[in-house]
Amino acid sequence: VKSLPTKTLATALLLTSLLCTCDPAPKSQTAAKPNNDLEASTIEVSISDQFYHYSIWYAFVNKVYDGLLTAGELKLQGVMLNGKLFQVTQDGKVSQPDNEAGIVYANATFFDVDKSFSIQETVDYEALRARINAQLATKNMFYSFRIHGTFATMKCGGLHKQELPYTEGLDVLIPNRPVFERENFKGTMVGFYCPEFIGDINVAGYHLHFISDDETFGGHVMAFSGNDLTVEMDEMSEYKFVLPDTKAYREVGFDANFQYKKQ
Ligand SMILES: [Zn+2]
Repeated sequence: VKSLPTKTLATALLLTSLLCTCDPAPKSQTAAKPNNDLEASTIEVSISDQFYHYSIWYAFVNKVYDGLLTAGELKLQGVMLNGKLFQVTQDGKVSQPDNEAGIVYANATFFDVDKSFSIQETVDYEALRARINAQLATKNMFYSFRIHGTFATMKCGGLHKQELPYTEGLDVLIPNRPVFERENFKGTMVGFYCPEFIGDINVAGYHLHFISDDETFGGHVMAFSGNDLTVEMDEMSEYKFVLPDTKAYREVGFDANFQYKKQ
């Protein structure tokens, strides 16, 4: 909703699952008012309601694993929470990529909390989705989430690092992804909800990534049992879409298909 951005949230993938949560970074652009206004002046246009999306899911599924976006440039789409962008490598280790690191796929937004609620009792992923669904004003908008809580169990997925020439798409990599598990600790899930109409452009429904409070465990959220959750959400009505202008993207055939389908 229109207000100055306070936080930026992003999930991104660096050939491995990568997550970043972001810090306050007021960022606005000015635009001329329409000419039929009596006074020619400028209005502030907040981009806090904008979903920034680099590359498309269908390309990523079809082995387009090179992008021209760098971690540093992604941070310009917002400043990271605590200044940090996290990468989870195939061995489950969490690190912070330098600004020159390549980003192949990213979802990001300036995060301002439109609504928050807490869940005291223990919930799993399905129960959490049901609780959030009940809070969505409409399922026709985009939403971002920041969910902090205590996790009795957390199961996260990574991705095996791919080397040129790329031979496996996400339709193969995801079902065979490395899985990391930890018990009884605290952390934050960040991610997005996209309406079903997003189709092959992005992940329809919920897509959450995770980072532990101690920043040593994370990845793509597969399953969990959590309690004392604080769910913060931001509704977004704008979607900025940037395609990788690479040879691989220009020449890819969109043959393989894969969707999570978490509603
Ligand atoms: Zn993911």
